[in-house]
Amino acid sequence: MDISLLIGSSAVLGAVYCARLAKRRLELSKAKHPSLRGHSRMAKRLARLIPNFEYGVEEFFGVDGAPAAVAAQRRTGFERLARSLRSRFAKGKAENDSLRSAVSDMQFTAAYRVPFPFSRYVREQLPVPAVMLSAEGTQLTDLDGNVAFDLSGSYGVNVFGVDFYRSCIREATERADTLGPVLGYYHTSTSFNVTRLQEISQLDEVSFHMSGTEAVMQAVRLARYHTRRTHLVRFCGAYHGWWGDVQPGVGNPQRVRETYTLKDIDADTLHVLETRNDIACVLINPLQALHPNSDAPSDGQLLGSDRSARFDYAAYKAWLERLRDVCTRRSIVLIFDEVFLGFRLARGGAQEYFGVRADMVAYGKTLGGGLPVGVLCGKRQWMQRFYRERPLDICFARGTFNTHPYVMTAMQIFLERLETPEIQAIYASSESTWKRRAEMLNHRLTEAQIPVQVAHLSSIFTVLYSTPCRYNWMFQYYLREQGLALGWIGTGRFIFSLNYSEDEFAEVVKRILAAGLAMKADGFWWREDALTNRDLRQQVLKDLWRRGFRQTPPPSVRQLPPVPAEDARA
Ligand code: PMP
Repeated sequence: MDISLLIGSSAVLGAVYCARLAKRRLELSKAKHPSLRGHSRMAKRLARLIPNFEYGVEEFFGVDGAPAAVAAQRRTGFERLARSLRSRFAKGKAENDSLRSAVSDMQFTAAYRVPFPFSRYVREQLPVPAVMLSAEGTQLTDLDGNVAFDLSGSYGVNVFGVDFYRSCIREATERADTLGPVLGYYHTSTSFNVTRLQEISQLDEVSFHMSGTEAVMQAVRLARYHTRRTHLVRFCGAYHGWWGDVQPGVGNPQRVRETYTLKDIDADTLHVLETRNDIACVLINPLQALHPNSDAPSDGQLLGSDRSARFDYAAYKAWLERLRDVCTRRSIVLIFDEVFLGFRLARGGAQEYFGVRADMVAYGKTLGGGLPVGVLCGKRQWMQRFYRERPLDICFARGTFNTHPYVMTAMQIFLERLETPEIQAIYASSESTWKRRAEMLNHRLTEAQIPVQVAHLSSIFTVLYSTPCRYNWMFQYYLREQGLALGWIGTGRFIFSLNYSEDEFAEVVKRILAAGLAMKADGFWWREDALTNRDLRQQVLKDLWRRGFRQTPPPSVRQLPPVPAEDARA
């Protein structure tokens, strides 16, 4: 063959190959969310460059350009609130202060309750107790004896009320005591749990783990093992625990190479699933149906009023059906992460609620009857950890506490109680109850002209702010003053347990309104008529530039903090 012909045709083939690669890459880029949330690496780089800055007391109350009189009104309100919280939570504050220096997690949550330029002053002035003394019904009592409605829901574990779990644990302790904490053997409750979980999930096999994070890790590991493909797909904003591969963005210092973070509810994503050959699995957190493509809403990120959420059942169901279809055709493992929502929406979880079947389902939280747990259910073909024909090609997963007898019996009791008429009745009315309650709350907020609304997915609420404002994060402290206990993400999420009675919910509404009226009266929702959320974002950027970048040049990423002398000697 003519050598020049050979070179020519190789060049053409090479060019075609490169063009195809470029096309695939472009399609992948299109399927990523245009925001930083969709671009993990860029987000991490940018996050490292943002320097700290704090608003001094003088400017704290007028960062939105409010007139001096409004800033003074806010300051007076803030000082009154500070006095009220400090006297209410005196012991709680002392305990917080003594714990904080040694408990790393507490330092983190305390620092990120509100946007960082406000954080230190708020932390000093507006204490909220981190330690609780007792719980009963829907209420928590703190060290100072204050009783508050629990809207934090124990990270979602608390579906049926704290007393339900307390009694599951008590009974489990009695039942498991004959064997005691013997590990490495199975407790007799195991076969009941397995059978019940097979029936609930409609899947063949079950594996037990210690946390939701681990159940998800195991699902992804198995999917990679069986498909021989490298990548997992997660959707923009979705939380799946703190394991590196499912948290490729800010928060994880490691570079994550084998995760695609794609747009939720989007045709470009379907196209990528349809055309790429490296995707092992798709992870779904059905809670994202409330705020697709957004991170879990937290008040620490409330720079303005552009938090948005709206649950559209039909649209999300249709999306899941399309995903199911493409995953089936492309042999991609469809994994539902029901760690948060499982057993809250329905007995059969999100699979039953949306009428779509997954290949694997991760459960956790409430399934442990109040004790720590993670469970993975899946089709036999995806769950097996070895191949008979290739005995050394295995997918390893063990864990010392994986089937702890006390956890297994608490799970058994939880699963037994799911079948009782009382729990069945709660499930049957849950959807309409929480819809009616959310509508009633929104109606009352509108009537009172408070610029706040809620969006909800069943008993999970998130607070939305209707007028552009830089102080919305203050609302969590007004709610605290009214005896409403929130999680550390503040008004981002109210998690109601399903045992809230009508009277109790009405009382919560009354308190939310009182908090809203107090915050309004203190001028925090004042705004210049023309001010938009876009203006607020620009204000933040300007402040960052003037007070942050200009005052403290960002340190070099590679510059390490000096090692204190004592540590160096050690
Ligand atoms: N997946 C989802 C959807 C979750 O909500 C969580 C916890 N919030 C996890 C996984 C991780 O579970 P755990 O905290 O038990 O590790």
